Amino acid sequence: MVDFTLSDEQKALREMAHDFAVKEIRPVAWEYDRDGTWPAEILRKAWEVGLMNSHIPEEYGGPGASYFDGCLIEEEMAWGCSGIQTSVGANGLATSPVIIGGSEEVKREYLGMLTEEPKLASFCLTEPDAGSDVSGMRTRAVRNGDKYVITGQKCFITNGGYADWYTVYAKTDPEAGHRGISAFVVPRDDTVIVDKKEDKMGQRASNTATITFNETEVPAGNLLGAENKGFKLAMMTLDRTRPGVAAMAVGIARAAFEFATEYSKERVQFGVPIAMHQAIQFLIADMATKIHAARLMTWNAGVLLDQGRRNTLESSHAKRFAADTAMEVTTDAVQVYGGYGFIKEYPVEKLMRDAKIMQLYEGTSQIQRLVIARETLLPRHIEEPATVTA
Ligand SMILES: Cc1cc2nc3c(=O)[nH]c(=O)nc-3n(C[C@H](O)[C@H](O)[C@H](O)COP(=O)(O)OP(=O)(O)OC[C@H]3O[C@@H](n4cnc5c(N)ncnc54)[C@H](O)[C@@H]3O)c2cc1C
Repeated sequence: MVDFTLSDEQKALREMAHDFAVKEIRPVAWEYDRDGTWPAEILRKAWEVGLMNSHIPEEYGGPGASYFDGCLIEEEMAWGCSGIQTSVGANGLATSPVIIGGSEEVKREYLGMLTEEPKLASFCLTEPDAGSDVSGMRTRAVRNGDKYVITGQKCFITNGGYADWYTVYAKTDPEAGHRGISAFVVPRDDTVIVDKKEDKMGQRASNTATITFNETEVPAGNLLGAENKGFKLAMMTLDRTRPGVAAMAVGIARAAFEFATEYSKERVQFGVPIAMHQAIQFLIADMATKIHAARLMTWNAGVLLDQGRRNTLESSHAKRFAADTAMEVTTDAVQVYGGYGFIKEYPVEKLMRDAKIMQLYEGTSQIQRLVIARETLLPRHIEEPATVTA
């Protein structure tokens, strides 16, 4: 049976996340954006009420929420401010490879660290010369007895400046392209240097940093999955986290849509509220349809994960469509506001800037189309989750 009705528990969870966004996030969102304020206190409160680390299983101290429930949380929180939600949610990206490929000991230590205290972890894949094509990464991990020594630089790392540990991708076989990448859990120590905090167009309350690993030593047991299987681990991670990004994009779009709808009823031109002009009505109608479709795609991608099924295609559908929807809807919201939309005093200007990153991180919209084309032209009928062990 196909049923899009939320259960009472899901409605309560969504309401809880919405209330949090209304009370804790919205009142400071525009101010934090203007000043680039790190939302430390909001992170602590989100952790306390269980809106952070939602995917960490109960056995490691987390709420063990489903991916679908995670999408409900991400939409509401991003409706409040997607920059703040990116900071709240980044642990999900860092912990996913640990949940998939970490040993029991590593899971207990590093997932436990995040559930015992409001600590942060970052996902370190991107490098200055290796963005969409991660096979070009230069960071090296060299085995030395019972340790690996990691050297290299990662850029654009969300929460990088505040993280207590990092999931780091490094070459263990430099000649093997994407088949020579491995993933490790790396605790922050003196050899881990935070080089640069980016000054961004949008999501200005989130922290984005360059991180250098300077002969950083980690125990061999911190390897996630098998050696040289890191690329697959990264792709499996993105299958799991892209629905969350799509949900955030829906949240941004919904916020812009609500502002634009209200404004269109108040603003009078040619003797009537602009909502009476059909051109504006059609903009509003298209926004509503796109948001609805983006949410359904997002829920579909999340539900497949909860059913233990491969969702690569649906994740990319959702991420691509929701990200492009957020960009289109926020741009149209500015249009509905007219010149006022371009002014920082009005709310939609921030939303348009925030929406842009949705088309960039966790795989650009072009990369999602590459995935969709590959999955469409060369479909793989695999229902079981793939493995990253040897
Ligand atoms: C705010 C922010 C936060 C981020 N957080 C993280 C994080 O926490 N961890 C992390 O590891 N990374 C993070 N990233 C990095 C992000 O994932 C990359 O920026 C993204 O993957 C694109 O890589 P790039 O910037 O090097 O662009 P490039 O790969 O250089 O792409 C440039 C352009 O070329 C296009 N392009 C590239 N290859 C192709 C192709 N084959 N076909 C068609 N078009 C193509 C792209 O779509 C894009 O339009 C973050 C980035 C930002 C800006």
